[in-house]
Amino acid sequence: MSKRPIPMTFCTVCRKPGYYVGFINSRCFNIVNGKRCPGKNRIATQETYWVECASCKATGWTGETCKQCDGTGWIFEAVRPAGPGVHPAALALKRAWSTLRNR
Ligand SMILES: [Zn+2]
Ligand SMILES: [Zn+2]
Repeated sequence: MSKRPIPMTFCTVCRKPGYYVGFINSRCFNIVNGKRCPGKNRIATQETYWVECASCKATGWTGETCKQCDGTGWIFEAVRPAGPGVHPAALALKRAWSTLRNR
Protein backbone atom coordinates (compact mmCIF):
# COMPACT_ATOMS: atom_id res chain seq x y z
CA MET A 1 0.00 0.00 0.00
CA SER A 2 1.35 3.41 -0.88
CA LYS A 3 0.58 6.57 1.00
CA ARG A 4 -2.32 8.66 -0.17
CA PRO A 5 -1.61 12.22 -1.31
CA ILE A 6 -2.34 15.01 1.14
CA PRO A 7 -5.94 16.18 0.69
CA MET A 8 -6.75 19.34 -1.25
CA THR A 9 -9.75 20.52 0.74
CA PHE A 10 -11.04 20.33 4.29
CA CYS A 11 -14.39 21.07 5.92
CA THR A 12 -14.54 24.08 8.24
CA VAL A 13 -16.78 22.23 10.70
CA CYS A 14 -16.20 18.45 10.67
CA ARG A 15 -12.69 18.75 9.17
CA LYS A 16 -13.39 16.05 6.65
CA PRO A 17 -10.63 16.02 4.02
CA GLY A 18 -11.38 15.95 0.30
CA TYR A 19 -9.57 15.60 -3.01
CA TYR A 20 -11.90 17.26 -5.46
CA VAL A 21 -11.06 20.94 -6.01
CA GLY A 22 -14.46 21.44 -7.69
CA PHE A 23 -16.07 21.27 -4.24
CA ILE A 24 -14.24 24.29 -2.87
CA ASN A 25 -16.64 26.67 -1.11
CA SER A 26 -19.51 24.26 -1.53
CA ARG A 27 -21.37 22.69 1.33
CA CYS A 28 -19.83 19.67 3.03
CA PHE A 29 -21.35 16.28 2.09
CA ASN A 30 -20.58 14.61 5.38
CA ILE A 31 -23.51 13.31 7.40
CA VAL A 32 -23.07 13.87 11.14
CA ASN A 33 -25.68 12.35 13.49
CA GLY A 34 -28.12 11.95 10.62
CA LYS A 35 -27.81 15.58 9.52
CA ARG A 36 -25.79 17.05 6.71
CA CYS A 37 -22.76 18.89 8.02
CA PRO A 38 -23.25 22.71 7.94
CA GLY A 39 -19.57 23.26 7.11
CA LYS A 40 -18.02 24.40 3.86
CA ASN A 41 -15.13 22.96 1.93
CA ARG A 42 -12.07 25.16 1.97
CA ILE A 43 -8.89 24.85 -0.01
CA ALA A 44 -6.01 23.25 1.85
CA THR A 45 -3.04 25.58 1.55
CA GLN A 46 0.63 25.17 2.27
CA GLU A 47 -0.10 26.32 5.80
CA THR A 48 -2.74 23.68 6.31
CA TYR A 49 -1.40 21.17 8.72
CA TRP A 50 -2.13 17.49 8.09
CA VAL A 51 -0.91 14.63 10.17
CA GLU A 52 -0.47 11.11 8.94
CA CYS A 53 -3.21 8.84 10.24
CA ALA A 54 -1.68 6.61 12.91
CA SER A 55 -3.93 3.60 12.27
CA CYS A 56 -3.32 3.21 8.55
CA LYS A 57 0.02 5.07 8.14
CA ALA A 58 -1.54 7.39 5.51
CA THR A 59 -2.60 4.51 3.25
CA GLY A 60 -6.31 4.79 4.12
CA TRP A 61 -6.48 1.01 4.38
CA THR A 62 -6.27 -1.32 7.37
CA GLY A 63 -7.71 -4.43 5.70
CA GLU A 64 -10.87 -2.35 5.30
CA THR A 65 -11.39 1.38 4.77
CA CYS A 66 -9.68 3.03 7.73
CA LYS A 67 -12.26 4.25 10.23
CA GLN A 68 -9.92 6.75 11.80
CA CYS A 69 -9.44 8.88 8.70
CA ASP A 70 -12.33 7.63 6.54
CA GLY A 71 -9.88 6.20 4.03
CA THR A 72 -8.13 9.46 3.28
CA GLY A 73 -4.96 8.62 5.21
CA TRP A 74 -4.64 12.13 6.62
CA ILE A 75 -6.12 13.99 9.56
CA PHE A 76 -6.68 17.72 9.50
CA GLU A 77 -5.01 19.40 12.44
CA ALA A 78 -4.92 23.17 12.03
CA VAL A 79 -4.06 26.06 9.78
CA ARG A 80 -0.69 27.62 10.46
CA PRO A 81 -0.33 31.38 10.10
CA ALA A 82 0.93 32.25 6.63
CA GLY A 83 4.52 33.37 6.37
CA PRO A 84 5.54 36.56 4.58
CA GLY A 85 5.97 36.60 0.82
CA VAL A 86 4.31 33.29 0.01
CA HIS A 87 1.20 32.59 -1.95
CA PRO A 88 0.17 29.46 -0.13
CA ALA A 89 -2.88 28.49 -2.15
CA ALA A 90 -1.07 28.58 -5.47
CA LEU A 91 1.93 26.68 -4.18
CA ALA A 92 -0.16 24.03 -2.48
CA LEU A 93 -2.28 23.46 -5.55
CA LYS A 94 0.73 23.10 -7.79
CA ARG A 95 2.30 20.64 -5.39
CA ALA A 96 -0.89 18.69 -4.85
CA TRP A 97 -1.51 18.24 -8.55
CA SER A 98 2.01 17.07 -9.27
CA THR A 99 1.69 14.57 -6.41
CA LEU A 100 -1.53 13.24 -7.91
CA ARG A 101 -0.03 13.00 -11.39
CA ASN A 102 3.10 11.21 -10.21
CA ARG A 103 1.27 8.50 -8.35
ZN1 LIG B 1 -18.22 18.90 7.24
ZN1 LIG C 1 -6.38 6.02 8.60
